[in-house]
Amino acid sequence: MKRMTKQRMAILKSLSDSKRPLYVEEILSKAAEEAPKINLSTVYRTIRALVEEEKISLIELPGEKSCYEISNKGHHHYFLCDGCSEIYVLNKCPKGLADMIPEGFNLMGHSITLNGFCLECNG
Ligand SMILES: [Zn+2]
Ligand SMILES: [Zn+2]
Repeated sequence: MKRMTKQRMAILKSLSDSKRPLYVEEILSKAAEEAPKINLSTVYRTIRALVEEEKISLIELPGEKSCYEISNKGHHHYFLCDGCSEIYVLNKCPKGLADMIPEGFNLMGHSITLNGFCLECNG
């Protein structure tokens, strides 16, 4: 049980230290720095539990593998690099989206993912 807690904390730490959402493989390699005995099935199992507890959130971007980020990071958007599949967090939000919807509709939220090439892939 003690080791489980250590692995769980390693997973949470890797996600809270990261400035962007992480793919499962990335969570595994980062968590392994803290908990060397961790393996992929433990990561999957722990991630599922953490999502259920709403400590982390599943992010599903079009055409990409699932990735995860720590919950409560506030409203934000993503830039997905078509070259290296890195996900960048954008803290800006477009204004005027409510103008797009027909009159009488009630806008409750939006999710926007931009894509293109990051600085490295563009160079
Ligand atoms: Zn890139
Ligand atoms: Zn927004």
